[in-house]
Amino acid sequence: MSESAGDLSSLARRRKQIVMIVIAAGALVFLGLWAFETSAGLIKPSDQWAYPIVIIFLCVNLLGVAAKPWFQPYAELACYFGVAFYLVAQVVLFALGPPEESIYDVANTLQWMPALYVAAFMLLSRRRAVAAASVTFLLSALALGIAALDASEEGDLRVSALLVNAVVAHLLTLLLLSLVAMLRLEFDRVSRHARSMEDAARTDPLTGIANRRALEEWMQAFEDHDDHKSAALVLFDIDHFKSINDRHGHLVGDEILVTTAQLIRSQLRPIDRVGRWGGEEFLVILDNVTMTNALRFADRVRHLVTISAHPVAGSITISAGIALCSPGEAVAETFRSADAALYAAKSGGRNRVSDRA
Ligand code: GH3
Ligand code: MG
Ligand code: MG
Repeated sequence: MSESAGDLSSLARRRKQIVMIVIAAGALVFLGLWAFETSAGLIKPSDQWAYPIVIIFLCVNLLGVAAKPWFQPYAELACYFGVAFYLVAQVVLFALGPPEESIYDVANTLQWMPALYVAAFMLLSRRRAVAAASVTFLLSALALGIAALDASEEGDLRVSALLVNAVVAHLLTLLLLSLVAMLRLEFDRVSRHARSMEDAARTDPLTGIANRRALEEWMQAFEDHDDHKSAALVLFDIDHFKSINDRHGHLVGDEILVTTAQLIRSQLRPIDRVGRWGGEEFLVILDNVTMTNALRFADRVRHLVTISAHPVAGSITISAGIALCSPGEAVAETFRSADAALYAAKSGGRNRVSDRA
């Protein structure tokens, strides 16, 4: 799996966890309110029915999300609008009745609405969250506005001020949440950009494989890792590459570098790594391998290079030097041995693989 695909699936897992936590928290809050208000004798007749219905509704959605991934977006919307419907209905019922009698109930409802807006921004995408929370806010603000006017006409300015305060506070909460969501979007964009810059800093632009910086980091990581098994360093170098450039031009030389990199990559196991060490040299790190298998690998690559003729330059050859790095050994020392083995392969006539200096 590529790194970005892995990132995406772990992001989806994390999102699923957050959605489940938000829905479960909602169900627990309603359960707590139901128990507390019942035991205190404060529960409204309508809530005796509404609380268990909302709790069951949230639990069904929670189970749905846990069991079926495709259900998650529906559950997110359903849970938000289910709870929003309950809260807005409380506010509208309050606005329709005499304010002074039910002000405690509506104040109780109003203090939960900011939590609902936060849940919208956690459950839904930014645009959906803004739309859903705005609809909820506008409906409740309309009802509260009417109730505030009624209250002030009846001379109950404290009730009227409380309701206006609630509308302004909710509006501010919504604006702040939208701003936070915008900042998060910007943060995501900058993080993505930083990651792509980081990738670019470790990639050879011509061949698309790792560059020397990445190879050096891998070698250092290998050395720092205490329980590693032995690994082989295979240093490839294209033979007489300078004269290929001189005869056919640098663009042909570049094409040969690209096809050679692809060819080496095609022979690797998932745990192996390859990078361009510099010029026409490629370094392969074969993890957990014997010298016999490393020699076989290098000779397979050498053979494939000789039979994959370039349309303009014709047949080319490559040489390789190999050294094994055992646990506890310095990788820099192994690299020197591989380089010396490559030199031996060159002086031995090129188009060959050597494991001896
Ligand atoms: P040997 O068989 O001993 O390895 O000889 P060689 O000619 O391959 O080695 P030498 O080190 O003399 O030449 C390497 C050449 O690789 C010289 C340089 O111009 C060329 N080269 C380095 N980087 C690039 C590149 O990115 N593109 C191209 N086309 N050529 C490059
Ligand atoms: Mg060279
Ligand atoms: Mg060369």
